[in-house]
Amino acid sequence: MVHLDYLDAGANIILTASYQVIVQEEAEHLLARSVEIALEAKKIYLENCTKDSLDFTENGRIVKGPILVAASIGSYGAYLADGSEYCGIYEDDITLDTLKDFHRRRVKVLAESAADLLAFETIPNKIEAMAFAELLEEENITIPSWFSFNSKDGVNVVSGDSIVDCASIADACKHVIAVGINCTPPRFVHGLMSAVRKVTSKPVLVYPNSGETYDSVGKELVPSTGVGDVDFVSYIGTWREAGASLLGGCCRTTPKTIRAISRVLSNESCSSPTL
Ligand SMILES: [Zn+2]
Repeated sequence: MVHLDYLDAGANIILTASYQVIVQEEAEHLLARSVEIALEAKKIYLENCTKDSLDFTENGRIVKGPILVAASIGSYGAYLADGSEYCGIYEDDITLDTLKDFHRRRVKVLAESAADLLAFETIPNKIEAMAFAELLEEENITIPSWFSFNSKDGVNVVSGDSIVDCASIADACKHVIAVGINCTPPRFVHGLMSAVRKVTSKPVLVYPNSGETYDSVGKELVPSTGVGDVDFVSYIGTWREAGASLLGGCCRTTPKTIRAISRVLSNESCSSPTL
């Protein structure tokens, strides 16, 4: 079970496999199932972790926070599966209402599941951030959410919209408890985090990809030529210093990445949750 591999590697937050589930009525059970599977992994992990697990110090005291299940919600572009989640350019006539209606049922089902929080991730543009914020308000969702954006230039989100504008939308939404960057090459994260922190004092989360870039024409990830992306872990200290509260990995990272992050954090006196 993949979730278990991540928990064994030291993860505090596991994301459900609901990112790309399309919301037709017959798919609703898949959403619920994705949460159940994550909860099963948590149970198995807690029953089986030993004093050698990363959750325990040498004297057996649990030092990590609780394990949380975050229900993953991908963008509209992720369902189109045409690469538009990585460019953020939707139809010209797309409206806030269209996006809200598109996401409404899935958000409600996941919010009513046993998940601990909703993870709106790889948000590619401002309009979708607004749609999510309004939806949380309209549906009066009671579990907390995080908003996470992706970038391919280190300055703006992938659509070209300002990261500052996007983070401001997340900051203004009372349902959002953390704002951050995911699925973005590690080398871009520090600058984006600084921009995010200018407009919010909410905790910042960072879970980059391993540094490849997405070729939306060829529909594949192309290895990065950027120096330093290979050593994802070497960035952790910088991200911590810049104020990252939650750290983890997105596409092409593995339990090995999470284990390495956990090791770095466990050497700090005040550790951050890992996802
Ligand atoms: Zn990703």
